[in-house]
Amino acid sequence: NNRLASRVNTLTPSTTLAITAKAKEMRESGIDVIGLGAGEPDFNTPENILSAAIDSMKDGKTKYTPSGGLLELKDAVIAKLERDQGLTYERGEVMIGVGAKHVLYTLFQVTLNPGDEVIIPTPYWVSYPEQVKLAGGVPVHIEGTTAANFKVTAEQIENAVTDKTKAIIINSPGNPTGMIYTREELESIVQVCKEKDILIVSDEIYEKLIYDGNEHISPAQLSEDAKKRTLIINGVSKSHSMTGWRIGYVAGDAEIVKAMTNLASHSTSNPTTTAQYAALEAYNGPQDTVEEMRKDFEARLDKVHPQLAEIPGFHVLKPQGAFYLLPDVTEALEKTGFANVDDFAAALLTEANVAIIPGSGFGAPNTIRLSYATSIELIEEAIRRIHQFVKDNW
Ligand code: PLP
Repeated sequence: NNRLASRVNTLTPSTTLAITAKAKEMRESGIDVIGLGAGEPDFNTPENILSAAIDSMKDGKTKYTPSGGLLELKDAVIAKLERDQGLTYERGEVMIGVGAKHVLYTLFQVTLNPGDEVIIPTPYWVSYPEQVKLAGGVPVHIEGTTAANFKVTAEQIENAVTDKTKAIIINSPGNPTGMIYTREELESIVQVCKEKDILIVSDEIYEKLIYDGNEHISPAQLSEDAKKRTLIINGVSKSHSMTGWRIGYVAGDAEIVKAMTNLASHSTSNPTTTAQYAALEAYNGPQDTVEEMRKDFEARLDKVHPQLAEIPGFHVLKPQGAFYLLPDVTEALEKTGFANVDDFAAALLTEANVAIIPGSGFGAPNTIRLSYATSIELIEEAIRRIHQFVKDNW
């Protein structure tokens, strides 16, 4: 079909959104489906943030803002980076965008030339390779194995670098892995990035969802050189339960941020003004709701992780952050006879009425992803159903 540009030929819809849509359709036709596909917190946005948004509208703050975002919001992000990570940035090094997803999209558009390679560790968040390809770049995958807690080493990165390598994406805490890179691991990674002179795209969207006393470190915190080559990507979606508001940001190199802002001025103009005022309150207002939500997620994880681990043929590491569980189901597939995780997920949805996401979309075809961003009762019931489903097919 020559109506479509060739750049969308290989574009596939996000697997996460596709399964979620199918589950919703089944639910609407009266089937009792439990969805563990969600990529968003199940809490409403905190009350103080809702009020700030309403007040801003009533004050007439309903017009365009600067393309890179409200200056007050940039300042709030700068204050947050200083407060949480001890990092100092200037306004010219920060851009507010339409969610972390579109900020990443814009970043790849302004940094990649045709054929430029971006190293993406597996398992990865579904949109990274698609966005890199849309910008003319080439995703290069290196494997974070189950044995290595789904993380990659500096050595693997070094071996993957070619003269075309432009950047590496580090997502810690990770989606779908829930794993966190330690300071020591990041130190050796930034060392390689310095030697090979590559950019570090650090997706820190799950920064606030960390359990068991683990610590979030940004590569940008490790040295002046690391800070210069790191683009921090973050936003309010997961930390403040604000996925629908679509506010994210980048902090990093001024030249790149300026190009991103120029591109935004011709694509989005600015993120929705009301949402920016909401985000302003999210960063400047009280942070206790962030911690309350984190605690709630941690309690769910502690409760359901052992239940999932009991399912025959499931091997599941305990995640350190985010809100996903990623069991390796290689043995369960062998014993139940499903050819792959896609077939397993499809049968699980139609026969046991549980929606999970097959890891094939994350470059981890031996895994399935379950989100625990739903009530504990529903997660427990879903795990019971999965357990029964596996036993019935064994
Ligand atoms: N990065 C990762 C790893 C994510 O999981 C998500 C959301 O699912 C995003 C970025 C996008 O977040 P936002 O809602 O800010 O676009």
